[in-house]
Amino acid sequence: MHPDEFRQAGHALIDWIAAYRERLPELPVWSRVNPGAIRAQLPAAPPEAPEPFAALMEDLERIILPGLSHWQPPRFFGYFPANAALASVLGDLLSTGLGQLGLNWEASPALTELEEHMADWMRQLLGLSEAWRGVIHDTASTATLVALLCARERSTSYSQTRGGLQAEELPLTVYVSAESHSSVEKAVLLAGFGRSTLRIIPTDERHGMRVDLLADEIVADLTYGRRPCAVVATTGTTATTGFDPLEPIAAICQERGLWLHVDAAMAGSALILPECRWMWQGIEGADSLVLNPHKWLGAAFDCSLFYVRDPQHLIRVMSTNPSYLQTATDGAVTNFRDWGIPLGRRFRALKLWFLLRLEGVEALRARLRRDLSAAQWLAEQVRTTPEWRLLNTVHLQTVCVRHEPAGLEGEALDRHTLDWVGRINASGAAFLTPAVLDGRWMCRVSIGAEPTTHADVAALWALMREEAE
Ligand code: PLP
Repeated sequence: MHPDEFRQAGHALIDWIAAYRERLPELPVWSRVNPGAIRAQLPAAPPEAPEPFAALMEDLERIILPGLSHWQPPRFFGYFPANAALASVLGDLLSTGLGQLGLNWEASPALTELEEHMADWMRQLLGLSEAWRGVIHDTASTATLVALLCARERSTSYSQTRGGLQAEELPLTVYVSAESHSSVEKAVLLAGFGRSTLRIIPTDERHGMRVDLLADEIVADLTYGRRPCAVVATTGTTATTGFDPLEPIAAICQERGLWLHVDAAMAGSALILPECRWMWQGIEGADSLVLNPHKWLGAAFDCSLFYVRDPQHLIRVMSTNPSYLQTATDGAVTNFRDWGIPLGRRFRALKLWFLLRLEGVEALRARLRRDLSAAQWLAEQVRTTPEWRLLNTVHLQTVCVRHEPAGLEGEALDRHTLDWVGRINASGAAFLTPAVLDGRWMCRVSIGAEPTTHADVAALWALMREEAE
């Protein structure tokens, strides 16, 4: 494509995206197509000859659009907010347009230095001390895997330079709460610990890790000749936005020499609000942490910030140094390929740079506060309405609810919950995610899509009552 053609098609595409965002309130939130429906409309083989851009746009509208489940509309209350603020979308477009590949500092000095700088801007916004250094990964899943590799290597004095975990005398154990995200268990398995060395610590009534039980498990493992290696604590659990108490967990980790990784993937965005900082009281005692600006904050996916206190250790665990990547500046600069798994890296920092500069932090804070207040409002409605039950302490933007009509319990209650949530989702008017909490289905209302106003939350509550009652 010639730059002139790109200019023309690009303008049309930007117009299309802008119009898409404008008409989101009218589209059914969740796609209703049947499995296979999209592929059935696509030609079986790729085109030999070039096609006009207009034909592509036609198929975008006709085939792709109906197959989209929309994450950006005002009545999206599912999973977690995955805001792709348009300011950040521009940064993402620029990243791709520049076609940079940060193999090392010299391969794109601006890519590396803007990433270092954005990690530092975010560090300041999050109220973290200067002891932390950050990098942008694709997802929290990757960051947690890297954290556990660091933990493994610290516990074994760099077993990877010898026979790896297979040659270790004592099995290493990892501790997570029963409400930790599935990506944590996956990272434990991928890092080679093995399922039998994963300790799942029960939570208390506020959905935080039971620190007394954590301490007991660690002592038991030591007694039976195992080597406690790492704790992964969560700030803002997926189902209920519960918090593991970091301060006492960090104290145990420091006393026993365990690595502490904090998963604040979802809740981390809220930590730019000073009034939310209590949620990770004790964070300075952790070794690593992850948060996803690509969730609530508004950075277009993918943009996950990973911070460590000891970058030299991280680099020692992750670095490779083939001759073709060596440069004269190596000792004097940051080479982010040594901070994670992939060699090539995208210019992700542009998404944050554009977001922070074009929106301004005050506006981001105001939006998060708007969502916190809407969640409090909804929690109050649920609390004060007969036959409705609030199931979590609402500190953030997720409200866990159940409609419990007299006489309905057990599996019949589960069916009732799944039915009314299913009806709302099928209607296209809003989208909610049901989940199991303490063995029973409930409904999570996750507030925080960028355009969601108080009126949208009020309309959702009316719809929930209509469908459930
Ligand atoms: N951790 C928590 C607490 C989450 O809520 C999520 C996503 O839902 C993840 C980790 C996984 O995030 P990612 O998709 O960036 O790997």
